[in-house]
Amino acid sequence: MIIDYSLMIIETGSGKSDSDKEEGEHFTSSLGMEAALHARDQVGVQDFVLLEEYKSVTAFVGNLKKRFVENLIYTYIGPVLISVNPYKALNIYNEKMIQTYRNVNLYELPPHIFAIADAAYRAMRSEYHDQCVLISGESGAGKTEASKKILHYIAAHSSHSSEVGRVKDRLLQSNPVLEAFGNAKTIRNDNSSRFGKYMDIQFDFKGAPVGGVILNYLLEKSRVVHQSPRERNFHIFYQLVRGANDDILQALQLDRDVEMYNYLNQGGSTVLDGIDDAADWRTVTDALTVCSFTEEEKQVSSPLSRDQSMYARDAFAKGVYERLFMWLVSKINTSLASRTSKKKMVLGLLDIYGFEIFELNSFEQFCINYCNEKLQQLFITLTLKSEQEEYLKEGIEDEECLRPGNATDGSFLEKLSVKLGGHPHFLSYTTANVQDKRHIARDEFRLLHYAGEVTYNVKGFLDKNNDTLFRDIKEAMSQSKNLILQACFPESELASKKRPDTAGTQFRTSLLQLMDILLSKQPSYIRCIKPNDDKKPHIFEEQIVRHQVKYLGLMENLRVRRAGFAYRREYELFLERYKSLCPQTWPRFNGPAKEGVHQLCQHLNYGEDDYKMGKTKIFIRLPKVLFATEDALQLRK
Ligand code: ADP
Ligand code: MG
Repeated sequence: MIIDYSLMIIETGSGKSDSDKEEGEHFTSSLGMEAALHARDQVGVQDFVLLEEYKSVTAFVGNLKKRFVENLIYTYIGPVLISVNPYKALNIYNEKMIQTYRNVNLYELPPHIFAIADAAYRAMRSEYHDQCVLISGESGAGKTEASKKILHYIAAHSSHSSEVGRVKDRLLQSNPVLEAFGNAKTIRNDNSSRFGKYMDIQFDFKGAPVGGVILNYLLEKSRVVHQSPRERNFHIFYQLVRGANDDILQALQLDRDVEMYNYLNQGGSTVLDGIDDAADWRTVTDALTVCSFTEEEKQVSSPLSRDQSMYARDAFAKGVYERLFMWLVSKINTSLASRTSKKKMVLGLLDIYGFEIFELNSFEQFCINYCNEKLQQLFITLTLKSEQEEYLKEGIEDEECLRPGNATDGSFLEKLSVKLGGHPHFLSYTTANVQDKRHIARDEFRLLHYAGEVTYNVKGFLDKNNDTLFRDIKEAMSQSKNLILQACFPESELASKKRPDTAGTQFRTSLLQLMDILLSKQPSYIRCIKPNDDKKPHIFEEQIVRHQVKYLGLMENLRVRRAGFAYRREYELFLERYKSLCPQTWPRFNGPAKEGVHQLCQHLNYGEDDYKMGKTKIFIRLPKVLFATEDALQLRK
């Protein structure tokens, strides 16, 4: 049934005629406060909790597709935002949109990343509660773009003093710098982040940004020496060779011809459509200036000289690059450091790569997937917790409220330590029965993650885990005349007798720290999905999306959300929308809104089990009850 809500179209472009309405067209604001949510007829449902076949993956993917073809890339599962990468510029992030979403509650407007940013920012300011936005998804799904949009939204809304200006510039400019050194072209994404990033933006009590801190995780340093077909090394190398002036190249003894260098040409595709390395070099050097790098340090940025690289062993090159990257992050952090010692509020952004399953899965995938397993666990825990808290706050007792799906339990490393052999989620050649032995090699082990089974190959695990640079290389580096190399390899490290932590231990430690950070904050979630593997607009491949819906645990998320009450709304808002359906509340109810809603529900013959009355909100268990009410309203009109 198509229902006309007399929707008001927000202009998103200038001078567009009706006939060439395009993206943004559906970003319609309703006249009534609530129409956006109820507009299930518009294009699918805007919130998956209202999906009637909420257990069906097919229905779920179908709803995403319906919206995607109409350029509606955002959909909610309750407070969680699902985003499908459009692979084309949509006119939905302009100044007008930024204004539209300002100070508006989540469900009053169609789903949008600005709504999430606004809600988090407002909650931080009004409740003085630290926030974090967790952005997850496969490579190329749009995580980094999402985090940039949030940063821009917040920058646009905070005050314009010179100090704030300084911080904003630095926050925004840290992106091109980190991307130059930490991003690369892969087959999945031309600008793929090859490191995980958590960024805290610090605010003063008025909500103005005053500083920031960046934590980085798991730089994929093997890329420095090896690239797969159709992939590149980190952007910075190409930018330098193609963009730096002759003096710099001469000083570094570098040639301008990228193809000369084995470290840069292995992928066989050094030139990228739509990417101008030379121009990006200028952007990066400008950004370095904003982030207060000195002239000498900028040449920081230099990869190894030809001499060095000729003699360099791969391990050496990787080690040096990793330390350079860490040094770069620490420099950026120094430049972002807040100048005030007053207490600050924090909004964190986590942009970390999603679950990875390749043909051959090694130590890197093991760490990444462990991280995702942990994040998923955290996600389910926190979702359940916030549901329970809301019921509690509203005085709703219902033992049946929450029937959490079958979340896989326990963290993965703990399982490892508790004698993996007997664990049902673990399989290796020695623990396998005769039949399974045929399906697993001697150097493999298999884990059942929440997202599915992954077989890991242990070849290289130990080396990667030990990850030690030889002492004499460290010694030589600490003696280097290059100040940055000196800083990267401090002599104090040589003096220490302590055996360095393994890469696995380091990763686990930093991950546990991250969990602590996230647990201390109020989370929001953005789950990014890519619609095809070809980076193409307009193509929505159901199989590919289905797979991601599974890996992101979205069905489980929806189940948790639906296990209790699908819909909840403040009494005032609910009454305002439906008051015309009941003679006692129309045209106005003289009394508390709660009482009005009670009379309305009686009049509409809501079953006793269909709904519950909380302190400030009505909770409706099944969407069909709401839909029936909505249909009645439309009939009346
Ligand atoms: P991820 O960080 O998840 O690997 P990115 O954020 O780098 O992915 O996105 C990959 C590419 O997809 C971007 O370079 C951009 O071309 C496109 N993209 C992502 N999100 C959007 C969006 N909201 N609108 C338009 N294009 C997008
Ligand atoms: Mg990224």
